[in-house]
Amino acid sequence: MKKNYDVAVFHGDGIGPEIMAPTLEILRQLSGKNPSYELAFSDAPAGASHYAETGESFPAGSLETARNADAILLSAMGLPDVRYPDGTEISPQIDLRKQLGLFAGVRPVKVSSGQTTPLSLPNGKEIDFVLIRESTEGLFFTQGAGEVTEHEARETLLITREVSEKLFRFAFELAQNRKDTRRGRGRVTCVDKANVFRAFAFFRSMFDAEAAHHPELQADHAYVDATALWMVQKPWEFDVLVTENMFGDILSDLGAGLMGGLGLAPSADIGLNHAVFQPCHGSAPDIAGQGIANPFAMILSAAMMLEWLGLTHDHPGLSNDGERLREAVEKVTANGQNLTRDLGGSAGTQDAASSVLDELRP
Ligand code: NAD
Repeated sequence: MKKNYDVAVFHGDGIGPEIMAPTLEILRQLSGKNPSYELAFSDAPAGASHYAETGESFPAGSLETARNADAILLSAMGLPDVRYPDGTEISPQIDLRKQLGLFAGVRPVKVSSGQTTPLSLPNGKEIDFVLIRESTEGLFFTQGAGEVTEHEARETLLITREVSEKLFRFAFELAQNRKDTRRGRGRVTCVDKANVFRAFAFFRSMFDAEAAHHPELQADHAYVDATALWMVQKPWEFDVLVTENMFGDILSDLGAGLMGGLGLAPSADIGLNHAVFQPCHGSAPDIAGQGIANPFAMILSAAMMLEWLGLTHDHPGLSNDGERLREAVEKVTANGQNLTRDLGGSAGTQDAASSVLDELRP
């Protein structure tokens, strides 16, 4: 019997709608050919352009659409020239993390053989790890509300037991799933700064407590500074990394750099009941409207959505399509044809996306 899934769609700003349109077309074609599921898309207006037009950045109806959906697909949001009166930018993607309790920012870093990377990988080595960035607290806790006086400024780093326990459980479950599907070795690394800060010793103690429930998985620790070094020197050794919000923010851009740029970096923000899938990059206003944006990070985020829906609903047909979609993008990237300018090619958005569809044809 066909199962139906509702997907809330935030089309985004700048290049957002340009990369969302071909991604939805690919999802429609995939689901159209799969007898086991159907996707229904509901638009959720929000973002900088919407604010400029209506004075509203994130209508309550759009939050409701997101809350009621099985998954949320979000394209890049925000425009540097469109701001609230207090000078901050419009960012519904951050509001969603807080509103829906999306504590796990999942950032896969994958470089297959043939794919361009600034590193020269030893023969036979591939990079395939996942960085999990806690996304609701840490050093972002006082975001926009830090104290600033004439002589000093303070922000608060918050680590709570409630969120950390959920975060570490999620990290070990992900490592178990990667091990079961032969994508990972079953290793989880807690990235912290426990040698200096008591908050990180607390963070680490909760990681160790969760690790004790998973004797079949390997658990270890690394300081964040050493992790930055190893991500460059021996990234093939990592499997699942789990860390605090600000550390994860910085390391995930390093991860995107390993993959040859933000145009290939997908992400997910996952909570207990909801999940948002979106590219790591922003709305790229410098190239918006020209039809030259790289759609691959958006398409890879959609592939993550299918894999996550398949896993959470125990629906292998969906997981398989997610995997096929990811592999199709990897093949197009590896064979070097139809790449966009950011990856050294000259293809437009539509041609790059069409080559993924070609790759999916039997
Ligand atoms: P950006 O990621 O939009 O752009 C940085 C550079 O990368 C630019 O030169 C851009 O042309 C290029 N780039 C990014 N995505 C690309 C793609 N798919 N294809 C080809 N080139 C691409 O970062 P920015 O310029 O700092 O931010 C622009 C706006 O996006 C800001 O308003 C910012 O707040 C917002 N932003 C949103 C998100 C999000 O929605 N999650 C993330 C980061 C930035």
